[in-house]
Amino acid sequence: MGRLVMKFGGTSVANIDRIRNVARHVKREVDAGHDVAVVVSAMSGKTNELVEWSRDASPMHDAREYDAVVASGEQVTSGLLAIALQAIGIQARSWQGWQIPIRTSDVHASARILEVDGSEIVNRFKDRKEVAVIAGFQGINPQTNRITTLGRGGSDTSAVAIAAAIHADRCDIYTDVDGVYTTDPRVVPKARRLDKIAFEDMLELASQGAKVLQVRSVELGMVHNMPVFVRSSFDKPEDIDPHGTPPGTLICSEEEIMESHVVTGIAFSKDEAQISVRQIEDKPGVAASIFGPLAEANINVDMIVQNVSEDGKTTDLTFTVPASDYNRARDTITASKSRIGYARLDSATDVAKVSVIGSGMRSHAGVAAQAFKALAARNINIRAITTSEIKFSVLIDAAYTELAVRTLHTLYGLDQV
Ligand code: ADP
Ligand code: ASP
Ligand code: MG
Repeated sequence: MGRLVMKFGGTSVANIDRIRNVARHVKREVDAGHDVAVVVSAMSGKTNELVEWSRDASPMHDAREYDAVVASGEQVTSGLLAIALQAIGIQARSWQGWQIPIRTSDVHASARILEVDGSEIVNRFKDRKEVAVIAGFQGINPQTNRITTLGRGGSDTSAVAIAAAIHADRCDIYTDVDGVYTTDPRVVPKARRLDKIAFEDMLELASQGAKVLQVRSVELGMVHNMPVFVRSSFDKPEDIDPHGTPPGTLICSEEEIMESHVVTGIAFSKDEAQISVRQIEDKPGVAASIFGPLAEANINVDMIVQNVSEDGKTTDLTFTVPASDYNRARDTITASKSRIGYARLDSATDVAKVSVIGSGMRSHAGVAAQAFKALAARNINIRAITTSEIKFSVLIDAAYTELAVRTLHTLYGLDQV
């Protein structure tokens, strides 16, 4: 007998039929003798609709009320799944974030989980064999007593946090793909499913745009050393052998991975914007005068390139920010124009970042150089580059994203054979 968290994403609970299918997956684990806590997302498309409604009501809305609105999608599915479970004879009840409680920071729309009290859930496993059906994505700030949400994709993080709080043996993430692939299988049909991936590699894949797991869920998994297993919710529950190993990807510590490749996977993100500040006087303090105000405005700067301007005397600084912060970033720089002293501001929003990830890069030289050559052979221009110990990223025109990802996927031997 073990203890499991089972998380189901939006597509897996998209309608009542699929919720019934989820209930049968849960029943399978309960019948096998496990204690089960389920975490659910809102029905697919629902959160987008709620976000739209808040924007429609007012583009400058109160973030606390935004959270009150968008958290409601998960309230619906948690109740519906509890009903579906009861209908097939499984003792179950729904839990909202505030009822558990899942305590978070007060940064509305991207709150961080501070503490989860799993004691009542565990008591009910012991006393009544009751399945806990928990609304993902949401929590409560203990100081203000307001509902918070954890940022898009946040139900993954709810699931791993609950798993840690109730000392689960494993956290299963059921989604619309049967595991983590070398890159998004919807973009590259030749992508290969990974049996295992190290937390470090998964963390980079997620932070560079692979939305299969929210970044913070991977961080939490790593901190608590909680095995996270990504698998498909579309398999028929009745076809799954309770003693077999289902298809899926285990995210685990590096030591548990026997075979290692130099490159593990490729991620990409089109949510980037590039800003170039042209013809700045090249003197100490210039970078601080640009990036200081951006940091104060809470804008994350990612890639930075500095080069000589076309006049040969001054300098150009190019950097990227998340597309959602683009307008604010431009305004912030423009407002500091006299302090910075520059001639022109250029920008581009039709750019994409493609990242190659692999902890094997630590001990291999020349991995990035191969990519630059392969992209040049395809006539893909690189606008900016960043590297770290286990990854490098290139910024390119968005139109070439798919071509670049496929080219690099083949280059590093990741294609399915
Ligand atoms: P859920 O609603 O279940 O949370 P998401 O849509 O958030 O599901 O995440 C699953 C999606 O992530 C897949 O449909 C797939 O298109 C995308 N994805 C991106 N990169 C990868 C990858 N490397 N492996 C698997 N899926 C990926
Ligand atoms: N429903 C939320 C979203 O769409 C949270 C999640 O699905 O993980 O972002
Ligand atoms: Mg998701």
